[in-house]
Amino acid sequence: MADIPLPRGFTAAKMSQAQKAFEAALGADKVFFTDLDRTAYEDKFAIDDARHHPAGAIAPTSVEEVQAAVKIANQFRLPLWPISRGKNLGYGTSAPELAGSVVLDLSRMKRIEFDEANGVVTLEPGVGFYDLYDYLQQHKLPFWLSTPGNSWGSVIGNALDRGVGYTPYGENTKNFCGMEVVLPTGEVVRTGMGAFSNAPTWGLYPFGFGPAWDQMFVQSNFGIVTKANMWLMPEPESLMGMDVEYDKPEDIKAMIDTIGPLRRERVLQQSPSIGNWLRAAAVLTRRTDWTDKPGALGDDVIDAIRKKFAIGWWGVSLRLYGREGVNKAAYTILENAMNAIKPLSIKPTSWVKGQPMEYSGWTGTPMTFPMQNINWYGGRGGHIGFSPLLPQDGTAALAQFKRTYARYKEYGMDYQGSFAFGERHLINVNAMIFNKDDPKMMSRIDPFFRQLVADAKAQGYGEYRTHLDYMDLVATTYDWNGGALRKLNEKVKNALDPNGILAPGKSGIWPTNYAGERKA
Ligand code: ADP
Repeated sequence: MADIPLPRGFTAAKMSQAQKAFEAALGADKVFFTDLDRTAYEDKFAIDDARHHPAGAIAPTSVEEVQAAVKIANQFRLPLWPISRGKNLGYGTSAPELAGSVVLDLSRMKRIEFDEANGVVTLEPGVGFYDLYDYLQQHKLPFWLSTPGNSWGSVIGNALDRGVGYTPYGENTKNFCGMEVVLPTGEVVRTGMGAFSNAPTWGLYPFGFGPAWDQMFVQSNFGIVTKANMWLMPEPESLMGMDVEYDKPEDIKAMIDTIGPLRRERVLQQSPSIGNWLRAAAVLTRRTDWTDKPGALGDDVIDAIRKKFAIGWWGVSLRLYGREGVNKAAYTILENAMNAIKPLSIKPTSWVKGQPMEYSGWTGTPMTFPMQNINWYGGRGGHIGFSPLLPQDGTAALAQFKRTYARYKEYGMDYQGSFAFGERHLINVNAMIFNKDDPKMMSRIDPFFRQLVADAKAQGYGEYRTHLDYMDLVATTYDWNGGALRKLNEKVKNALDPNGILAPGKSGIWPTNYAGERKA
């Protein structure tokens, strides 16, 4: 048997006692401590997954069992790492930041309640996008989901890491309206109107009375979310839009300066994402189909890829949702705006309720095919994402693109970049696809990532989300007034979690007892 990873100061005997206590409280069928179990909870995409090996996992099925597990964790001073479905690919999946933590797997908590009149769903953390989609179909509920590119994960877990989808409800974390949370000391709280017993407005008014806490439990280690209300989009009467291609790398500037004002004005209510040619090529073909040369792809190969798929250097899909008459009027505005900056092609799409529907992210259908991109290089594929936040400014985005593209070439990696609109910001998602069986390539990934963080920091651009390996690094870039925000986060952490048992290190927030584990 391989050595069990242990948190510092922990012995194998103590871990075995903790395991027995979990078995007594939850039943042996909810406690997993074999080598195979540990392998199942590793992060297969990590550059070095050994840094994040868990000691084991437990899978409670009720709030009471979560509380019992938290009580045991406090008794043993044992760190727990909560996951919903643990499919946060590129950011850590089911693995903990601190090796030797025990994964608190909530994927068996799968209850769904639906308030059809208001379009509010109350979910437990194990409910996946596919589960909720099936539920809506079975019950013939006229609501659409906001699914991320890889929809294997849970609705709550995705929103807790600020994942995004493609519809007007695409900023998923904004759809939370009240949560139930088990605190690190074991008490249960309900946020917003959930604090008011039997209020019919828990899922309707997000703020409650006094401070509003939902976002406090997002990307944090302050509590375990056991239930949350989320708003779903009523099925629209019509969906119209266009897929638009542009020819040159420099066109990114005009695209952003054209789409940005329409987004801010809310003519466009969803969040379009401008992506480059590799987004298409990497899911439909493999690198060896195009070239056997190492290093970043040359312009000749890029031209061949673009020709085969009839795509531009950049492409973007714009979609309008709602009443048909409104969409038709808005479509003309979009078409005129996009034509004014000379696209290679505009492909219109249109759907009206009752017609057969396209199954895609635009209609909130769960999907997994984009994950095909990890086969691009062959071998055991994986990726991490480098995703700084920018203003909606074409000049700034073009400069950021040029800087990043030059780095991809310098480090010999194929560029997959996109600029996704929020309401006022851009998320510049750069996928770093790699082959874990290519040690030379893998040795470049960490320095490459750190270089990109440093480049972005010099421009004032911070990441919106990051892999476990870089949580400390990214937290240090949020450095205003001597890192005052991190100090506040850690003050709150220590107050709520005096034994430091909940997800130490998450988002660079370390409780005092693990402060020595900080890596940056
Ligand atoms: P998904 O279910 O979409 O795959 P994950 O389970 O991987 O999402 O969770 C994404 C991130 O959110 C993880 O880093 C995890 O730490 C955090 N998280 C997930 N579920 C919870 C929860 N119920 N309570 C607190 N934090 C959570």
